[in-house]
Amino acid sequence: MLKRAVYSLADKPGFTAWVSRHGMRWGFAQRFIAGEAIDDVWPALQELRDDNMAVTLDYLGESVDDVDATRVVTATYCAILDELSARDNAASVSLKPTQVGLAISTELARENIGKIVAHAQQLGNFVRVDMEDSPTTAATLDVFTSLRADYDNVGVVVQSYLHRTAADVRELNAIGAQLRLCKGAYKEPAAVAYQAKSEVDGNYIKLAELLLQEGNYPAFATHDDRIVDHITSYVERSGIARDRFEFQMLYGVRRDYQREIAAAGYNVKIYVPFGAEWCPYFMRRIAERPANALFVMRALVGG
Ligand SMILES: Cc1cc2nc3c(=O)[nH]c(=O)nc-3n(C[C@H](O)[C@H](O)[C@H](O)COP(=O)(O)OP(=O)(O)OC[C@H]3O[C@@H](n4cnc5c(N)ncnc54)[C@H](O)[C@@H]3O)c2cc1C
Repeated sequence: MLKRAVYSLADKPGFTAWVSRHGMRWGFAQRFIAGEAIDDVWPALQELRDDNMAVTLDYLGESVDDVDATRVVTATYCAILDELSARDNAASVSLKPTQVGLAISTELARENIGKIVAHAQQLGNFVRVDMEDSPTTAATLDVFTSLRADYDNVGVVVQSYLHRTAADVRELNAIGAQLRLCKGAYKEPAAVAYQAKSEVDGNYIKLAELLLQEGNYPAFATHDDRIVDHITSYVERSGIARDRFEFQMLYGVRRDYQREIAAAGYNVKIYVPFGAEWCPYFMRRIAERPANALFVMRALVGG
């Protein structure tokens, strides 16, 4: 119920405009967003690196419907990769396909993401193509598989809430794709996605085992300790080495838990988002856990 209410608020332009205006000034966006400018990111990145965690940077933005604007985002990603190469190549990048052309055409997305991946390859870096809502799934996987034929420094994301994902994972494993498995963050209809948390979690575990058996350095993106425990006991039982997979978590979500898993000797990568277009990302974090809305309330009362 609460989740639905948050999703419906996220669709109200007046509300999101208000959140965008006040979020940084009143301090509630900083919980999940490293800042609006690239220079805001470096202290957060250093802190994570000091705790032995790797980083993937997300320059926030989505649903860009102007061709020139997608080219500007593409150039910005290349510039971010240049900065990372000068500072810390243990940080990679993640991007949303509709930020770089998929809201316009599959060809444009292929062209722009291809430029970023080619640039990353020259610098020895890696690009993760995030997965957005279900109308974009097939096109995102098409763009990814066509790029994967030419580059091995690109990976993509699959979501355990979608019915189609088990079949996708089998096909993607067959081409050696590097996959990030997540539950899925968008509001999806029953025709395409499991609705019950128990089904989404059960499918996650099945897919995680499949990826551990057949995948290429899978990334398990979750803060769910029951799933993390399942994976760690599964790898122990199966004799799978810890350097064959990693856990990924979001900046600002269960920070102590992130450190605990890294300290226990697992590879951990933190997804660090930054940029002025943070509102849709922020609203998804609230929808995942409506109790997070309390942070917003407290900031309002306090500020
Ligand atoms: C690195 C990374 C990349 C991702 N990339 C994508 C993507 O490309 N496409 C996509 O659709 N989704 C993506 N997601 C989001 C993902 O799909 C889930 O919506 C999100 O991770 C919450 O699910 P969970 O697995 O943590 O489990 P849940 O069952 O939602 O949560 C488990 C526990 O984690 C904690 N928790 C979870 N979320 C929050 C939060 N927002 N605030 C505070 N505590 C929280 C709570 O303690 C909760 O009980 C990504 C997530 C991560 C970690």
